[in-house]
Amino acid sequence: MPRIAIVGSGFRGIFDALILSRNKNNNITIYDKSDFFGGISRSQNIFGFNVDMGVHMFDSVQQELYETVCEVMEGNMHTIDFISQSAYKNKITDGYSLPDLSSESESIREKITNELICLAGDPKLSKDNILKSDSLLDLLNNRYGQTAGGIFSEIFQKVYSISSDNCDCNALNKTSLGRLKHLDDEDMKVLKRNKYLDSILAARRKSIGIVDNYVSGYPSDGMGMGGFCDRVLNLLLKRNVEIRLGKKIKTKPEKEKIRILEQENKISKEFDHLIWAADRLNPLLDDLSININLDKYFYQTPMVFAVLITDQKHIKDFTYMQNFSKNGITYRTSAAGIYSKQVSLDKKSFLTAECPCSLLEFAKINEIEMINKIWNEVKSLKIVSKKAELYNYKLIKVSKSFQVPLVGFSKNYEDVSERLDKFNKNISVHSLKLFFRRELYQESKELTKVFV
Ligand SMILES: Cc1cc2nc3c(=O)[nH]c(=O)nc-3n(C[C@H](O)[C@H](O)[C@H](O)COP(=O)(O)OP(=O)(O)OC[C@H]3O[C@@H](n4cnc5c(N)ncnc54)[C@H](O)[C@@H]3O)c2cc1C
Repeated sequence: MPRIAIVGSGFRGIFDALILSRNKNNNITIYDKSDFFGGISRSQNIFGFNVDMGVHMFDSVQQELYETVCEVMEGNMHTIDFISQSAYKNKITDGYSLPDLSSESESIREKITNELICLAGDPKLSKDNILKSDSLLDLLNNRYGQTAGGIFSEIFQKVYSISSDNCDCNALNKTSLGRLKHLDDEDMKVLKRNKYLDSILAARRKSIGIVDNYVSGYPSDGMGMGGFCDRVLNLLLKRNVEIRLGKKIKTKPEKEKIRILEQENKISKEFDHLIWAADRLNPLLDDLSININLDKYFYQTPMVFAVLITDQKHIKDFTYMQNFSKNGITYRTSAAGIYSKQVSLDKKSFLTAECPCSLLEFAKINEIEMINKIWNEVKSLKIVSKKAELYNYKLIKVSKSFQVPLVGFSKNYEDVSERLDKFNKNISVHSLKLFFRRELYQESKELTKVFV
């Protein structure tokens, strides 16, 4: 009976545990330093609603993952027909969540097109330059040309409150800047006929008729993503998984085994295998005497997270909108109350809005001024109708939301991965380079396959 420890009870740990616990032979223990289960996917009760801290969905996930989630939810799931939107220079694009630069002036659009044609002229050189990029700024310029690269860098600075010059190329995978659209769909389709440009440009999905096997959905029991985490916890307990919350641990490799020691009470347990599914690697690296401080290569984006209560009937039919306009105060606004099926008896529901903000600005926030700006913007973006009233609101200062890798991360991460290889018989580590749930699930399948 293999004894397996999983460290971290966020989605990485959850997927590992759900897969591994199907095999009754596995003896599993999950450790988490927090005294709650689910990591950043916990919802908070705000004005009687279960509110996720950010947009947390099963968006575009594998059918197989969706079915696993449905099993946990005992059928209380609904699919979401994604209605995404974006705004750039205060112009709204329906059916597209990335920045649409087609509202730039004709001369800028022409400049962008010419630079792209140049890049497509020597695709090998362009790809080499992309690989050689030292920072996200370099990467954006090499990928899209100086003009679009510069605009994307400004957008990045607005959303993450840090310059792309300071960030590692891997940051691109965690942003909405992975593809460029600067013309209308028909013109983008013409450029996309070129194989190289096809890999970096976008047109709206409905215009190119993209069909994939991914599915998007959300729990329909009104308990938010936190409700899903609670159900996972109960299911795992039923499957005899041991859950140790609120435990600071130390990891000790011992010949063919791994020992985990709970620091406070000195209880220790021996395992055949450890899966590290925590969002940080430093504690493990310290315990394995690998002297590389990866934490210093991460910047944590601060945000003000707004919860806005209004009448359901005044909320437009949408899933979320990403606002890339420079003067905008909101970044992503979502119809979280609607897609999570939370409408009160008096027909009120809620929106959430993530508002980028630097830590320095946190101290100076005037709540009334800020909420007025947010609400006016939500109205001008037509997310709610003109008649909508704001009945209640909450502004939450989140000092750490998205983790953005800084210059030097990839290089140091490679060194860490090499050093960890020595332990790979007994220790598996989730990659810090992945972000989306479908990627995390795929990785969980890889890491657990010997025990399935
Ligand atoms: C605001 C936001 C919204 C997102 N929305 C989506 C989305 O809609 N769709 C999507 O596909 N992806 C989304 N993502 C990306 C990704 O899916 C999530 O980041 C994912 O939930 C992360 O899960 P995790 O397990 O890596 O991390 P976390 O949820 O952060 O969990 C890590 C856990 O490890 C524990 N831990 C850390 N260190 C230790 C230690 N030393 N010992 C023990 N325990 C430890 C922590 O307490 C925590 O419980 C979002 C990310 C963010 C930040």
